[in-house]
Amino acid sequence: MSVTILPRATWAPYVPVPETYEHAAAPPARSDNPDWNPVGGVFIHHRGPASPFGTDYPTEEVCLEDIALVYNDHTSNDDYNWDIGYNFLICRHGNIYQGRGYERGEANHAGHVEGIGRNAGFYSICALMRSNHTATEPMLRSFRELIHHLRVDAPVMGGNRILPHSHEYVTECPGNLTMYAQWGSTIDPAVPWSGLADIYIFAAQRWVNATYAGAPGYVECPENGRTGWSTVLSLTQGLQHELGIAPTVRNFGPGTFNALKSRNKRPDEETSQNLVRIYNAALWCKGYWASTDHLHWTADSQESFERLYRDAGLDYADTAQRQRMWPHVAKAMLRMDQLQLVPSGDADTRRVQQRLNARYVAGIGIPAMSLVPCDGVYSRDVQQGLMMGLQYELGIALGSINGYFGPGTQAALRGRGSGPLTGDLRYLFRAACYFNSPTFIPGEAAIGYDPADIGTDVLTSTHDRWLRIFQRFSQLPETGTNDYATWAQLLVSSGDTDRPATGCDGITEITASRGQALRAAGYRIVGRYLDEHLAPGDPSYLGKALKPGEPRTILDAGLRFFPIFQYNGTQLANFTYQKGFDQAGFAHFRAQEHGIPANTCIYFAVDYDALDVDIDSNIKPYFEGVKAGLAADGDRYTFGVYGSRNVCIRVSREVGATWSMVSGMSWGFSGNLGFPLPANWSFNQIREYEFQPGWGLDHDVWRDGGDPGVSSLVTG
Ligand SMILES: [Zn+2]
Ligand SMILES: [Zn+2]
Repeated sequence: MSVTILPRATWAPYVPVPETYEHAAAPPARSDNPDWNPVGGVFIHHRGPASPFGTDYPTEEVCLEDIALVYNDHTSNDDYNWDIGYNFLICRHGNIYQGRGYERGEANHAGHVEGIGRNAGFYSICALMRSNHTATEPMLRSFRELIHHLRVDAPVMGGNRILPHSHEYVTECPGNLTMYAQWGSTIDPAVPWSGLADIYIFAAQRWVNATYAGAPGYVECPENGRTGWSTVLSLTQGLQHELGIAPTVRNFGPGTFNALKSRNKRPDEETSQNLVRIYNAALWCKGYWASTDHLHWTADSQESFERLYRDAGLDYADTAQRQRMWPHVAKAMLRMDQLQLVPSGDADTRRVQQRLNARYVAGIGIPAMSLVPCDGVYSRDVQQGLMMGLQYELGIALGSINGYFGPGTQAALRGRGSGPLTGDLRYLFRAACYFNSPTFIPGEAAIGYDPADIGTDVLTSTHDRWLRIFQRFSQLPETGTNDYATWAQLLVSSGDTDRPATGCDGITEITASRGQALRAAGYRIVGRYLDEHLAPGDPSYLGKALKPGEPRTILDAGLRFFPIFQYNGTQLANFTYQKGFDQAGFAHFRAQEHGIPANTCIYFAVDYDALDVDIDSNIKPYFEGVKAGLAADGDRYTFGVYGSRNVCIRVSREVGATWSMVSGMSWGFSGNLGFPLPANWSFNQIREYEFQPGWGLDHDVWRDGGDPGVSSLVTG
């Protein structure tokens, strides 16, 4: 990265007193301070209160005049040794100017930073912006470049700190740059560029930390101008403190809800200034424009507040509902999920979300139900809301509604839920179809559910076709109706756990008699582990690996088998490219040793609820390693993926797994809620049970046309 620093001669001609021009263009020699060593890093400044030029620096000439003014001020005052105090200045257009350059910095008040000193230990960089300005992207990018230069290739190299002038000193400098004047901000070249931050969120963060530092249980949020859970939870603690709750906790629970309910004051009626500040801050954090001074509930605040009701699917104009919903709205305001459509969201999904809120939270008033997000994304919280609405429509008592797919709900789905559907119950069935869209005809394009079918009682051909394809794809009887198995399949990743299956897997050796027992129970294909990373004698040793000769025994029992590979599949840290590469090698070796023929698919396991960030950081690299490792051994075997629906979908699409084995029985996994079955699913593990005393088995639905597994062995 090369940095352009414009010389003093650029601004010197603008110095108001002509006699000083020569001095301004060529700095005085600086031999009087041998201690200069900017080992600390940089201090950040701005140009102070409102501009004499008006509200902005419209042209570069105005920037140059302003630097010349700084020079004039500083040279009229021997505090600065008759030179401009800043080492560098950066304007809002992104130009970097030489001040005293690599000479010592003297724009700071005297004092020390952890024994380093201030003026002798730091570069000073001044932004040409005023307290009424916010930073521009070109300015911040130039800060980043200059700081990088000062750290790595300046004639006099500086340390890594980035501090605001206000560090351990009372000044409002550097104003709206303060939130960037710290490690890890967007101007820190050691971390990725993260764009502009928000001064209103920054103001909220500073205020909430300063105001509630002493409240019992309070946890500070970062002061960085960026919204996030840590900030809204700090605001939640502030709210609790104002409502008289002690100690405060980082959770908006029933206590907070009830305290708000009994206070019974919406923000526009609120008399406590601190509460008004919290509500304004919550609007800012939620992505709505609110009052810029936080202290007053302005027309902007009110307009956003009413919009937030509408975004949530609520009716602000209905005065009773407006009041009744306020604690729910407050809770939603202090969460990070969105009520506005997000870029990855879908407008039809959002309409369903809003209807869930309107009917079941505002209308029916289900006690256990909170407002669901209205972001257009089918997620765990939306699934919960849908389940609660469904429980209500099935006739479950209000106080018993919990969103859980338990025995009562299952029984109601087998009864009333399996009859002819109209109105709200039919709506929820079709909404669930939409959430499980697309479905697949193997080898053909994905089939999406037509959103126009969600809101009608008419049995359309598009609904009927989608439902039948979904049933076939899910390996359910193709009834075209809302039978129990179909409801279960739509609602939870395990589906109907009692349905028959022809696949199974387990850690137990398949002997001849066990093979016969499996076949007699209807199983045709069994999953077995290729290897185990622990040695016999280790307390956690399972003895799960295929035994010599076992593949032959399995085939002789009239069964097929499929190989699984899992070492330490339950922890994120065990997934790296190198481990994937090495484990593919072990898998290849074992498979060959057992005479498993070429082109067999080996399933590598992700045996925990990996989130998207984990998939990006570790799971994908691991599978890239698996892919490369198998390739290094001549691509004799292909790889499949065992994991949640999301893990299977992403690893198949982004790394190229041949088949998916879905851990459907873990239906509470976030990676299973809100994701359809992967297009290439071959096994769906729906239940674990004790097949015979001491012999545990996983019950796996094998899909017709799925991975055939191993039905012959290679000898010699
Ligand atoms: Zn300053
Ligand atoms: Zn400029």
